[in-house]
Amino acid sequence: MSVLVLVEHTEGTIKKKSFEAVQYAAGIAKQQNTSVTALVLGTVADGEMTALGQYGAQKVLHVADARLNELHGRAYAAAVTAAAQKEGSKVIVTLNDVNGRAVAPRVAVKLQAGLVAGALSYPDTEKGFVVKKTVFSGKAFAFVDVTSPVKVIMLMPNTFQLQKVDGTATVEKLDVAFGDKAFGVTVKEVNKVKGEVPLAEAELVVSGGRGMKGPENWGLIEDLAKELGAATACSRPVADSHWRPHHEHVGQTGGTIRPNLYIAVGISGAIQHLAGVNGSKTIVVINKDPEAPFFKAATYGVVGDAMEILPRLTTAVKKFKENHK
Ligand SMILES: Cc1cc2nc3c(=O)[nH]c(=O)nc-3n(C[C@H](O)[C@H](O)[C@H](O)COP(=O)(O)OP(=O)(O)OC[C@H]3O[C@@H](n4cnc5c(N)ncnc54)[C@H](O)[C@@H]3O)c2cc1C
Repeated sequence: MSVLVLVEHTEGTIKKKSFEAVQYAAGIAKQQNTSVTALVLGTVADGEMTALGQYGAQKVLHVADARLNELHGRAYAAAVTAAAQKEGSKVIVTLNDVNGRAVAPRVAVKLQAGLVAGALSYPDTEKGFVVKKTVFSGKAFAFVDVTSPVKVIMLMPNTFQLQKVDGTATVEKLDVAFGDKAFGVTVKEVNKVKGEVPLAEAELVVSGGRGMKGPENWGLIEDLAKELGAATACSRPVADSHWRPHHEHVGQTGGTIRPNLYIAVGISGAIQHLAGVNGSKTIVVINKDPEAPFFKAATYGVVGDAMEILPRLTTAVKKFKENHK
């Protein structure tokens, strides 16, 4: 009956957002007076997995098949389904991300489960199983009641603050008989994004738009990002013009991020851009046009020329860090 949660890792290191998912599963398990089983797929050291106990998992099921080091939607779904059936899980948690989108709907079909994508709250079990979720690219919320016996919930990353607890999880091997079609794609080569802070995982992001005028001015964005320990991002026209690589493009047709701080420099704030960033906890907008639509979504706004403001902001951050060593 335990709550099952799918855990993601990068080359054996469990992702922070998966700790969030485990903690979320633990919250649901507490509501239901049951325990949490985390499912880990691929090559991960035991020590890394037992640490999931610090976020509320009692048990880890480990499918050690090295083919699972790469995302294979069908194989992942088969493993999640097998684990859910073994544990008798009625609630299954994944993240609302690339992996979750490839896996959760398949699991929901296999288990005839209701699915909530983009979950932002713990279920309210007073009158059913009501979960708050994001809709219309974050412009509104919906409250959905999941009435099926088995429920699949895709949690939005960066929704809850992590809080460690005392605990360690036991690790158990799980063998899954994958069908012929489970690994329909062979990964030939992986080209990794270079950069100090991966954008998808970043808590702080400095992002530039067409207002930066050209790639020659990107040093200003990078200097501020470096001082803050932030990742860099950009608007779509910037990537389309090859000022910045496409993996930095955020928005409706790019990445969706939910950092704690998003600093938007020289970006107008078109709805398609906002779709990728409006889940950010704090938004700072720097734009020379006081009428720029982005100011409506901003927590703090600075009206002025980015070329003047960015160096001053970077110097201020540097000074602040020196004074708070
Ligand atoms: C189907 C579709 C999907 C799309 N998907 C995306 C998407 O995923 N992501 C995305 O970003 N866009 C997307 N777009 C494009 C989107 O509609 C906007 O055109 C785009 O976001 C604008 O980029 P921008 O803000 O960088 O440029 P602009 O709209 O040109 O804005 C530049 C801003 O910089 C300011 N500025 C200029 N000079 C300075 C200065 N010196 N200092 C400070 N501020 C300055 C200006 O006042 C202006 O507000 C999509 C469009 C369509 C139709």
